[in-house]
Amino acid sequence: MVKSRVVPKQTIETDYLVVGCGAAGMAFADSLIDASSAQIVMVDRRHAPGGHWLEAYPFVRLHQPSAFYGVNSLPLGSETIDRHGPNEGFYERAGAAEICGYYDRVMRERLLPSGRVRYFPMSSYLGEHRFVSAVSAEEVEVKVRKKLVDATYLEGRVPASSAPPFEVAAGAHCVPVGALASVREKPAGYVVIGAGKTALDACTWLLDGGVAPSDIRWIKPREGWFINRKYLQGGELVGTMFEGISLQLEAAAQATSMDDLFARLEASEQLFRVDARVQPTMFRGPTISFGEIEQLRRIDEVVRLGKVQRIESDRIVLDGGTIPTSPGHLHVHCAAEGLNPAPERPIFSAGRITLQSIRIGLLPFASALIAYVEATRDDLEAQNRLCPPSRQPNLPEDWARGMLIGMKAANRWSKERDIADWLDRARLNMLRGLEQHGSEPHVQQAFMRFGVNIRPAISNLERLCGS
Ligand SMILES: Cc1cc2nc3c(=O)[nH]c(=O)nc-3n(C[C@H](O)[C@H](O)[C@H](O)COP(=O)(O)OP(=O)(O)OC[C@H]3O[C@@H](n4cnc5c(N)ncnc54)[C@H](O)[C@@H]3O)c2cc1C
Repeated sequence: MVKSRVVPKQTIETDYLVVGCGAAGMAFADSLIDASSAQIVMVDRRHAPGGHWLEAYPFVRLHQPSAFYGVNSLPLGSETIDRHGPNEGFYERAGAAEICGYYDRVMRERLLPSGRVRYFPMSSYLGEHRFVSAVSAEEVEVKVRKKLVDATYLEGRVPASSAPPFEVAAGAHCVPVGALASVREKPAGYVVIGAGKTALDACTWLLDGGVAPSDIRWIKPREGWFINRKYLQGGELVGTMFEGISLQLEAAAQATSMDDLFARLEASEQLFRVDARVQPTMFRGPTISFGEIEQLRRIDEVVRLGKVQRIESDRIVLDGGTIPTSPGHLHVHCAAEGLNPAPERPIFSAGRITLQSIRIGLLPFASALIAYVEATRDDLEAQNRLCPPSRQPNLPEDWARGMLIGMKAANRWSKERDIADWLDRARLNMLRGLEQHGSEPHVQQAFMRFGVNIRPAISNLERLCGS
C-alpha cells in the first residue's frame, strides 16, 4: 500500500493578501501597486485571473463600454466607437475571450513584473490567512503585515456553474445558456428562462442569428428596468453621459413617488423596459440600446406565470400555472442569480478590506479607488466616509438608493484634492475628461440642470427611500 505523502507547510509574508482575482481583486491590486510600495499575494481557486468571465457564455459582452472596465493601468480594447450593429454609435464592448486575455496581460505585463505581486492560481483560501493548492495539495500560511482583502464577497453566480433553480425531469432538454453556441440542429422551439441580462443576451443572439420570433418562448418571472446605453458612454461622448445624469437628477428632484420617479426616468429616456404594459419590479443595472429593445419586442410569446418549478417532457410547471412543451424543445437556463445580493458591510475594518461597489454596479472603479484610499489614509472612519458601500441592485428602489450613495460619495471626493486628481487620471472613472467638453452647448445646459437639481434631488431621494 502506498502511503500518502505529507506535504510540508510553507509560510510566506506580505503586506496584503488579496483573495479573488476577478475584476475586483485585479483592479484593487493594480491600483495599490501604483499608489504604494506594498507587496501583495494574490490567490484564486481558478486557473487564471478574470473570475466569472472565464466561464461566461461564448457570446457574452460587457453591457458597458470597455473604456472604463478592467484596471486603471491598461486600456481594454482600442476605445473605438462601433460603426455597425445594435451597438452602433456607442463605444466598443469586449466579449469574454477579450476580457480573459486582457486580465492575463494585466497579470503578466503589469502585476508580476512590478516585482511586488506573487500570484497563486488553483489555490483555495481556507480562512485564517491560509490557502491550499488544488494541484499540489500544498498548504501555505501567509503572514499578513497589513490587511486581508476579500475580493470574493460579491462573487456572482453564472448558469455555467450553477444548476438551474428548478427541476428537470428525464426526457426534458435543458441546457445552460452557453450551450446555445453548440446547437447543431434546430430544435422544435427555444424556451428561454430568465428575465435578466443573460436572458436578454440569449434572445437577441438567437434573433440576430435569424431565429424567427415565433420559435422563441420567453419565460419571464419579472420585468426589469434597463439603463439606456446612450447615456452610459465615456470618452468623446462623456458630455452625453453627464446630460443623462442631469436628467436623472431632474427626475429625482421632481418625483412625487417611487413610481413617478420611474415614469420620469422613462420619459427622459434614461431607463427602458421591454414591455411598456408591465410595471417592472426589477433593476439590476445593465445597459441596453434601443435597437436591442426593439429586437426583443419582436418576441410575442412571453410567459408571465412566475418562476419555473419543474420542466417535464411535455409540460412546464410554473408558480402560477402550466404550459405545454415537448422533448424536442430546447430549454435555456438563464436563471442563475448573477449579481450577488450580499448586504453592505463596511469596506474598511481592522485588518480587512471587503471590496464592494460605491457607484451603482461599477465594481472595478470602486476597487481601484478603495486601493488608492487605503494607500493614502490610515484612519478607518475617514476611509469608510470616502468609500460608502452600495449593494448590488435588485429592485427598482435600489436605483434611488444607489444614486444617493454615489452622489454623496462624489461630493466627499470633490473636497479632497488628491482624490479629485486621482479621479482625473483614472481610466475607470466614467466621467473622466468631462471638463474638456464643458464648452459644448448640451453640456453647458446639463451643468445648469445639474446645479439646479442636485440638492432637491438628494433630499427628495432621501424622502423616497425613507432615509
Ligand atoms: C454576464 C455578466 C456580464 C456583466 N457585465 C458587466 C459590465 O459590463 N460591467 C460591470 O461593471 N459589471 C458587469 N458584470 C458584473 C460583474 O460581476 C463584475 O463586473 C465583476 O466581474 C465581478 O467581479 P468579482 O471580482 O467581484 O467576482 P468574480 O468574477 O466572481 O471573481 C471572484 C473570484 O474569487 C475567487 N474565489 C472565490 N472564493 C475563493 C476562495 N475561497 N479561494 C480562492 N478564490 C476564491 C473565484 O474563483 C473568482 O475568480 C457582469 C456580470 C455578468 C455575470
